[in-house]
Amino acid sequence: MGMLEGKVALVTGGSRGIGRAIALELAKEGADVIINYRGSEDKAKEVASQVESLGRKAMLLRFDVANPEEVKQAFEKIPAFSEKLHILVNNAGITRDTLFLRMKEEDWDAVIKTNLYSLFYVTKEALSFMTRQRYGRIINISSVVAFTGNPGQVNYAASKAGMIGFTKALALEVGGRNITVNAVAPGYIETDMTQGLPEKVKEAFLSQIPLKRPGTPEEVAALVAFLASDKASYITGTVFHINGGLFRG
Ligand code: NAD
Repeated sequence: MGMLEGKVALVTGGSRGIGRAIALELAKEGADVIINYRGSEDKAKEVASQVESLGRKAMLLRFDVANPEEVKQAFEKIPAFSEKLHILVNNAGITRDTLFLRMKEEDWDAVIKTNLYSLFYVTKEALSFMTRQRYGRIINISSVVAFTGNPGQVNYAASKAGMIGFTKALALEVGGRNITVNAVAPGYIETDMTQGLPEKVKEAFLSQIPLKRPGTPEEVAALVAFLASDKASYITGTVFHINGGLFRG
């Protein structure tokens, strides 16, 4: 029996990369999975069919995490799939890298809206399920750069650091309702997001990683599945670093 038997999870940005690996790991552990995506329906469908081939139920839920109206309308569709929602993984995120002196307001805005405002919109809706059922697991995917900074990523680092404050404060508010809120801060993980980095930047990262390799989405997913499970029932308001030793907290 898996760690998440009988649970229902929503993963934002679940069609590729870390979100996809999380959706599949949660399903392997027994959860039914709601896969949020924005554009890539084919990829989201492929993840859904893999979830189903693991013997779990899957629902595709299209919405832009940065659009409050879309989020609200999408959540209205969930009860037809499940009356309960036990696990929320706020994974969707973007970068718009450029040095701060050249950064345009739209680069700032897009990143803060997608990575941080999304937590306000999506978590509020999820909490209406979780407070009613007096059970919830919220896991926010932040980043090592929230702690270290990174040139060219002032907007991204600010958004990811904001997620940490959100995690800690919300954990204090909802603990009494048996809802835990934690953050996972990955380092350099091999996905579409990091594929586009210049070779020089990748080499610089690798030279600082004691384990001498990038991480995989599956390694992040294993940590998220643990935090989503009852085995992590006494952990809340905490950040988990997963970065091959690049940053040690
Ligand atoms: P990715 O670009 O492969 O995937 C991001 C996913 O988010 C995509 O499915 C995308 O469609 C979705 N998304 C983006 N904007 C959205 C929106 N407005 N509404 C709905 N979905 C949206 O990136 P990834 O590497 O898998 O990153 C996943 C998360 O992990 C992100 O929050 C990222 O910041 C974080 N992270 C990644 C790394 C890394 O090295 N790859 C390191 C630290 C943190």
